[in-house]
Order: sequence, then C-alpha cells, then structure tokens
Amino acid sequence: MNVALEIPRPEAHPDIERILFTEEEIRARVSEVAAEISRDYAGRRVTLIAVLRGSVFFLTDLARALTVPARIDFLAISPFTPRPEPGVVRIIKDLEESIEGEDVLLVEDVVDTGLTLRYLLRSLTSRLPRSLAACAFLDKTPRRLVDVPIRYRCFEIPDRFVVGYGLDYHQLYRNLRYVGVVKSEVFRG
Ligand code: IMP
Repeated sequence: MNVALEIPRPEAHPDIERILFTEEEIRARVSEVAAEISRDYAGRRVTLIAVLRGSVFFLTDLARALTVPARIDFLAISPFTPRPEPGVVRIIKDLEESIEGEDVLLVEDVVDTGLTLRYLLRSLTSRLPRSLAACAFLDKTPRRLVDVPIRYRCFEIPDRFVVGYGLDYHQLYRNLRYVGVVKSEVFRG
C-alpha cells in the first residue's frame, strides 16, 4: 500500500494571528546571509556582537552557518524611553572583550525606528574596531526615524509587531520557531 506521508505543519500559537516566516524559510535565509558574510570576510575573523536578549537565536544560527572564524560577545541595553532624551539607551551589560582593531558585525533582531542601532554603532565606533557593520534579522523600514546603515538583512517586514525566533512581547513567545504577528486582542489584554 502506498501511503503518502504527510508532515504535519506546526499549528500556530493561539495568540498568533499569522506566521510571517516559517522555520524553514528562516533557516534558508539565514544560510544565504551567512554565505554572503563569509564571502565578504574571507581570510579575516569576525567578531559578532549580539544585543541581549532578542538577538541570541539569530546569532547562534548565523554563527554556526559562517565559514570564517568568529568570536561572539554580548551587550545588554535598557530600552530607551521617549522622554527626556529620545534615542538614548544605556548599556547595562558591556562586552567582555576589546574590539579594538577587530572586524565587528553587530547582530540585531529587529531594526524599528533605528534609534537603538544608531546609538550602538556610535558606541562601538568609539572603541576603534578595524571595521564595523550591522546585520539585522528583521528590518521594519516603514517605522524608521533615523537613517542607519544595515549591511546585511534577512527580511524586510511591514509595520506590525512580531514575535518569535528571539523576539518577545512581555518576555513571551521568544522560543517560537517561526516569526508571527501577535493578535491585536493579546495587546489589549
Ligand atoms: P528601535 O530602536 O526602534 O529600532 O528598536 C529596536 C528594538 O525594539 C528591538 O531591538 C526590539 O527590542 C524592539 N522591537 C521593535 N519592534 C519589535 C517587534 O515587532 N517585536 C519585538 N520587539 C520589537
């Protein structure tokens, strides 16, 4: 008997309105970006810096797909508040290693207004890396307030709040294997 094997698609979490990128799509795209980075940094070693906590899932997949030697380090920041100083975040956990003279790639989960990335790039530039570039998993271009250079990006997304693959809403949903849009009633509580 020839029984077609059907691989069940994982059900979306009940709080998720729709899946934007499946686990397979993410894996394929991360591999493509890793190949691009590996080509660009061929013959050099790269220092990947991830911002805790959202970027950790992306960082670990990206790092394992690279073919160039990679160091990894982490920063943690406090979220910026709109007032009194827009775009000012505070580093609450600093890097463990010096990046002076290193080729540094800042790995971000999502670039939204761009204020966080602008702050971080300025802060890292002052530490005299040999080179510095940004790599974003998601780029929410419609919400950009400041122009920031993003050399590598996996996906552009519309102006919707998304979770999964490291991204959270009130610290939940980070461990979803896909990226999805949260239902509006979840926000309303
Ligand atoms: P930005 O400074 O406005 O670019 O904000 C970037 C930060 O906002 C990200 O690192 C996330 O922590 C958070 N953020 C922005 N959009 C989303 C989203 O759709 N889901 C989860 N976090 C988000």
